[in-house]
Amino acid sequence: MAKVLIAGGGLAGLAAAAALGRDGWEVDLYEARPFLGGRATSYAVPAGGEEVPETIDNCQHVLLRCCVNLLDFYQRLGVRERIRFFREFYFIEPGGRISVLKRGRLPAPFHFTGAFLGMKCFSRADKAGIARALLALRRERTRRKDLDRISMLDWLLQKRQTPHAIDRFWRQVLVSAINEDLDRMAAVHGFQVFWLGFLSTADGYEMGIPSVPLGQLYTADAWRRMPNVRMHFRTPVERIDASGFLIDGQLVTADRYICAMPFEKLESVGLPAPNLQHSPITGVHLWFDREVTTLPHATLLDRTMQWMFNKENGRYLQLVVSASRDLTALSRKEIIDLAIGDLRLFFPRVHDAVLLKAHVVKEQRATFSAAPETESLRPGVESAIPTLKLAGDWTRSGWPATMEGAVRSGYLAAESIAKVSGKPAVYLVG
Ligand SMILES: Cc1cc2nc3c(=O)[nH]c(=O)nc-3n(C[C@H](O)[C@H](O)[C@H](O)COP(=O)(O)OP(=O)(O)OC[C@H]3O[C@@H](n4cnc5c(N)ncnc54)[C@H](O)[C@@H]3O)c2cc1C
Repeated sequence: MAKVLIAGGGLAGLAAAAALGRDGWEVDLYEARPFLGGRATSYAVPAGGEEVPETIDNCQHVLLRCCVNLLDFYQRLGVRERIRFFREFYFIEPGGRISVLKRGRLPAPFHFTGAFLGMKCFSRADKAGIARALLALRRERTRRKDLDRISMLDWLLQKRQTPHAIDRFWRQVLVSAINEDLDRMAAVHGFQVFWLGFLSTADGYEMGIPSVPLGQLYTADAWRRMPNVRMHFRTPVERIDASGFLIDGQLVTADRYICAMPFEKLESVGLPAPNLQHSPITGVHLWFDREVTTLPHATLLDRTMQWMFNKENGRYLQLVVSASRDLTALSRKEIIDLAIGDLRLFFPRVHDAVLLKAHVVKEQRATFSAAPETESLRPGVESAIPTLKLAGDWTRSGWPATMEGAVRSGYLAAESIAKVSGKPAVYLVG
């Protein structure tokens, strides 16, 4: 069988390996680190004294049911059942009042109507504005040609959204979905999230959360059913050119190649890098001596911490701040104090709880910034070298930088390889 080499064992490289491997290609995947998953992974953090080391996710990763390629990839690995879906989104105000968004009986796009009308965190004027904007989004999605040039905030202001609606609804959903603030985010991405997640189908919004640490989704077991896919760990690719991959000073050759490395690493292997900027994400892991909430997750309104995920019996919480530039200069202790201060406003039990331990993970290069006029900077799957394809969440996958975008890019690279090799295949779903 023809042979393909892949540089990078994040979701993009893994998706390409799974697709081509299942179709009988001999696949060798080279990963610089000792584990798979790239940015969507988990690792053990050292424990103090007699404690067992804790395995934590790099950061809580969530998906929506409309991430059909990511779900297809999990299916290929036999781990699809490890994703637990939630139908309720909990919006909490400081003080603890909870509003729930969930679908009712009406068909899309009216499936949220009942729950939305009952949400106490929005006034009548907020709700009327949001409803008007959602209908406009549905109409303008295919008609407007400037959505990559204007910011989502520009568009929301055009639609005369109230400050509350912007902060508590649009910002709360979109900043975490796209990892960029509304004034720096191209409207085209906001449109896509709302169209696929909230308007086009009734279940697209359901939130999927892995029930195991991320790293356990891509273990050796999952790859055993594809014996022709070989993983090489701690094996950085040093150079990529038309003759092949340079690894440990040796040239390794194959019929086809895929580069699935992050864009900021391309120059280190001799490939041109796109002129994209980064946007950071900060994750805060907190372990308390007692249960502080029974909610499985919640979006926290009007404060710095944006989302709370209940990782274990209400005692281990993970908080996420996307587009977290404001936290960059803060120390670990300052961020933990900020997080505890925020949590006390939402969950009164935090006042009495003792914080047993905490971790702060600042990812300065979490994703590229989905700013206006960025789409044209994202390369497609083809590179200047005919046998080399590009993959990664930064390529033009049709999605912003997400796990779904990464998997789509891997499938697109695999399709391109299959096509030029005379055995066309369709891997992309939807
Ligand atoms: C903190 C954080 C939170 C996030 N939350 C979400 C979320 O909730 N939902 C969501 O959908 N997305 C989320 N994302 C985005 C998501 O993680 C990424 O979009 C996706 O994982 C990118 O996959 P990738 O394969 O394109 O790149 P990567 O995961 O970066 O994979 C690239 C791989 O290449 C390897 N590599 C680098 N150099 C070399 C070399 N020279 N040789 C060999 N290998 C090399 C790297 O070690 C890495 O494993 C989050 C990202 C971060 C950082």
